Order: sequence, then C-alpha cells, then structure tokens
Amino acid sequence: MAAIEKRSREDWQELDREHHLHPFTDHKDLHQKRSRIITRAEGVYIYDADGSKILDGMSGLWCVNTGYGRDEIIDAAAAQMRELPYYNNFFQCAHPPSIELAAMLKEVTPPQFNRVFFTGSGSESNDTIVRMVRTYWDLMGQPERHTIISRYNAYHGSTVAAASLGGMKPMHKQSGLPIPGIVHVDQPYWFGSDRSLSPDELGLAAARSIEDKIKEVGPEKVAAFIGEPVQGAGGVIIPPDSYWPEVQRICDEYGILLISDEVITGFGRLGEWFGADYFVTKPDFMPFAKGVTSGYLPLGGVLVSDRVADVLVEKAGEFAHGYTYSGHPAACAVAIANLKILQRENLVERIRDDIGPYLQAKWAALAEHPLVGEARMVGLMGAFELVKDQESLERFDEKVGAGGVYRDHVTAAGLCLRASGDTIICAPPFTLSYAEADELIDKARIALDLTQKSLKG
Ligand SMILES: *Cc1c(COP(=O)(O)O)cnc(C)c1O
Repeated sequence: MAAIEKRSREDWQELDREHHLHPFTDHKDLHQKRSRIITRAEGVYIYDADGSKILDGMSGLWCVNTGYGRDEIIDAAAAQMRELPYYNNFFQCAHPPSIELAAMLKEVTPPQFNRVFFTGSGSESNDTIVRMVRTYWDLMGQPERHTIISRYNAYHGSTVAAASLGGMKPMHKQSGLPIPGIVHVDQPYWFGSDRSLSPDELGLAAARSIEDKIKEVGPEKVAAFIGEPVQGAGGVIIPPDSYWPEVQRICDEYGILLISDEVITGFGRLGEWFGADYFVTKPDFMPFAKGVTSGYLPLGGVLVSDRVADVLVEKAGEFAHGYTYSGHPAACAVAIANLKILQRENLVERIRDDIGPYLQAKWAALAEHPLVGEARMVGLMGAFELVKDQESLERFDEKVGAGGVYRDHVTAAGLCLRASGDTIICAPPFTLSYAEADELIDKARIALDLTQKSLKG
C-alpha cells in the first residue's frame, strides 16, 4: 500500500513549484524545466513518475550503499517504531537501539575509537566537532587553541559551522561565512592544478600548506585540521599517495587534532571500513552519516577517540550540547540492520577485491574518449574530467556548461551521475552486479558521444 496519494506527474510538478524550496537549487531555472519526480526504487534502480528506469550511479546522495528495497532494514524500522518510536538520550536516559549501535560501532572502527556522540546528519556532526575541539583545548588549559584548518573546495555540510569548515566559495559568499577561527589551505587536486609538479610533489606541497598555515596562525593557536579522506562533493579528488602521511606527520609534530570527515568514505565506500583505514591515518575524530543507515533514515554521529573522550568525560562536567534526535531509536535500529548487511554480505571486502577493481578498470578506460582528460576511481568512488582538448587538457569555457550538457544526456540515457562543474562523479551502491557495472559504463560512454556531438554542433 502506497503511503502517499497518487497524482499525475504534472500535478506533482505544479505543487512542487508552488510550495517547495529545494536544497542547492536555482529555483528560477527549476521552475522552467520542472522537477523530475522520483516515485520508487529497487536494487540499484530508481523510477520516475513517467516510469523511466534509471541506474542510480550516485547511491541517492552517496548514501544508499546497500541498495534500495531492503526488507530487513524496513522491518527493523517498523518493529522499532512499534516498540518505542521515540525517546531521547538526555537526562540520564538511554534505550537499547542507541546502546547497541554505539557498541557495534566500536567493533568496526579503528582501535582508538570507543565512544560515539549521535546526531541527525553530517552537518550536525561537524558542528558538534567544532564545539568538542574547542572544549577539549579549554580543558587542556590551552584556550588559545581555537583555530581549525580546513581546505578550499572541501565539503563538510551546510549548517553555519559546517559550511564554514567547508571551503566552497559560493556558500561562503551568500551568508558572510566562514565564522571566525576557521582558515583554509590548498587541496591536493593534481588535475585542477597547473600540473607543473608531479602528483606526489603536489601532494606534499598541499600537505605543507597546512604547516605554513600553522606557522602563520601560530602553532599555539591551532586546534585541529579537518579533511575528507577523498573529497566528495568537490569532485572526487583522490589525493596523491604522498599527501596523507605528510598530513599525519604535521598533525603529530604540532600536536593538533586530526578530523577525518568520513561522511562519504565511512562504512566501506573505499573498500575499507573507513577512509582512515584506507590511507592509514590516526584521526582523533571521525564524523559520519550517509552510509551508516544507507539513507533509509537520517542519522549521523561523531566517533570520538580516547585521547579526547577521556578528557571530556573526566573534566568537562556537563557538555552543554545535544539534539532532540541524537540517537533516534528507529534510525539506530536501521543502522544496526544496515551494518549487519554490510558484514553478512561482505560488501566492504567485495569493493576491495571484486566489484571495485572490476568497475575501476572499466572506468579508467573511459579516459580513451576524446572528451575525457582524466578518469579516476578508488573503491566505488570515481570521477572523470571533461576537456575540450585531450592533448593539452584544456577545459571548456565555463559558459559552455559542458558538465550540465553531459548530465542531461546521461540522465536521458538512463543513468544518474552528478556534475560538479565539468567533473563527472560516480558512486554506485555496493551491491552493483557485473552486468549493472557494464550497463553503467555503456551508458556513460553513450552520453560522452552525445555530449561531443552537442558541443561540436
Ligand atoms: C554530505 C556531507 C556532509 C554533510 O552531511 P549532511 O547529512 O548533508 O548534513 C558532511 N561531510 C561530507 C564529507 C559530506 O559528503
């Protein structure tokens, strides 16, 4: 039985246009084109109101990692809602789903993590971290240490603090961000650089821009560095091998806290449980969200290492922070069911040893297309760069909007990928079969041919 009354596509589009403000959307543009109404989903496919079947190469928004239509997850939510649909974890209370999930997270995370603070989203997790980091240094008797270093073109969410941590210039411009005490350094984006350095040299230079910033701000004032193991929204920027070891060295040398934003990379996306496992870093915080529930219900959290948690527990008194939905019982029950699927079906290992290498090889071969300047993928997280000239790697003029042209073609071909400028992004569900991987690549290539025709015509 459908939960929502069925209307015609046109009716939905009209109501949407009249009443609904969308996230990250140019409404004037949307209102001309009308929204695409997605009505149902199964496995790795979504279906729109016209009945078109689209292979979801983005796992929703980087989150539906175990795929759509998982009865086990749905039943866990329904059973928990019947038992206890809501209760809070304030005022010396707890409930079984939040406790069980907290204990389960300890099993799958690196050894320094034994405690978790629950939130409702990735943004809330990063807001929580700003407060925890500053509280930690206050309690350590170093209240000067309040500055957090992040990177240009990072994405850490859209609340005021999370957007400040992020390095997205258009976001900063619209609302007077960043807030004080957050500064930005270079990203390790080789293709986006002038390419005068080798990738490893560029990785070292980007890491050392953190050290330069520490010296500029004053080492006694720097609290933490935050980075996504692989930048997601910024364009699936896979750092050169030299980058993370050097970042870790710098954090250790100056004693500053390392925050590994695992909202996309957490729970298997790179073929390891966390990006920190993949790049062998030792973070003090790991914010997570998205894949923890495969998006079936909203849930986020902050994994807090013993170094910080011991101090907060011992010395903070009441840490005056929390959300009504911190550790929501149904969301926690969904996360438990989802993590059990990851474990039982060995989906993380499957990305490392099986479907990951399979899709990576085919994705890399897209670089043969004359429109592609670079194709890269780690785990099941990839991108390719559209270029005007494959020899010089010259990009299209911004006015051409090549990324948008490609996105329209690929959607019409029945594949959902995302365009970040002229960088085309892919992050399919972990359950993608070989046949579905072949379909994904075929459709991506068809859309490249069509884009080439459109841009030449
Ligand atoms: C999506 C994302 C966030 C924000 O998560 P929300 O749940 O949308 O608030 C934070 N960090 C990273 C790396 C993300 O990709």
